[in-house]
Amino acid sequence: MNIILLGPPGAGKGTQAQRLEQARGMVQLSTGDMLRHAVAAGTPIGLKAKAVMDAGELVSDAIVSALIGERLDGSAGNGAIFDGFPRTQHQAEALDLLLADRGRKLDYVIELQVDEEALVDRITGRFSCAKCGVGYHDKFKLPRVEGTCDACGAHEFKRRPDDNETTVRTRMAEYRAKTAPILPYYEERGLVRRIDGMASVEEVARQIDAVLDGEGAQQPGEGRSLQL
Ligand code: ADP
Ligand code: ADP
Ligand code: ZN
Repeated sequence: MNIILLGPPGAGKGTQAQRLEQARGMVQLSTGDMLRHAVAAGTPIGLKAKAVMDAGELVSDAIVSALIGERLDGSAGNGAIFDGFPRTQHQAEALDLLLADRGRKLDYVIELQVDEEALVDRITGRFSCAKCGVGYHDKFKLPRVEGTCDACGAHEFKRRPDDNETTVRTRMAEYRAKTAPILPYYEERGLVRRIDGMASVEEVARQIDAVLDGEGAQQPGEGRSLQL
């Protein structure tokens, strides 16, 4: 199964993708994580991407599509969770070609619907384990033992330089202008399932499971914009 998690910054894509990796052996493909690794490693792509990311704007379609292409084969077993990709119509079309070349297809596009004002709180409280990358939140998801990562026991945490209120406003505007408009492309194919991203992490997970296990209240094709 190959799915896209779609939603604005802070919607919960990474949190849910990490859980699906654990629960289903799927592979999270996060272009944001790939780009941050490239920046940290000082690769040519990282050098190009850093200023764009710090400004909250989108990195070029060619760069992110190439990054996904390099990683796609590693998710062939139990499937891929696309997290933060595609973000433009061009990327959506590039993904279709990459999958078709490998005889694979998309099963669902899961849209996490969230209230924009809550996102600022989510983003400014976000931090993650410096060693294993598991995500936390100052208010909503603290480690069970203060200062110790639940997953790996490390004591070092980090925050993203772009997780500040000014940059997040730009990232939301980018989402509205360039990413939300790709939904109809998937609606036409009956792939979109909408989930209440304002619910608790556990409830969102339950709703995603219901979709993936085919127990969603929504029937295939429902929610598709009818073009009469
Ligand atoms: P995204 O990958 O969509 O940008 P994240 O999964 O990183 O979003 O979530 C952003 C922040 O909000 C993280 O600190 C995470 O712990 C927290 N978070 C994620 N989902 C929820 C939720 N359903 N309720 C409250 N906080 C959440
Ligand atoms: P979030 O989890 O908050 O949605 P990401 O980690 O996915 O953010 O992305 C962080 C930044 O990396 C973006 O603001 C953008 O600059 C860049 N980026 C990540 N994925 C893409 C993409 N698919 N296309 C263009 N830029 C991207
Ligand atoms: Zn850890």
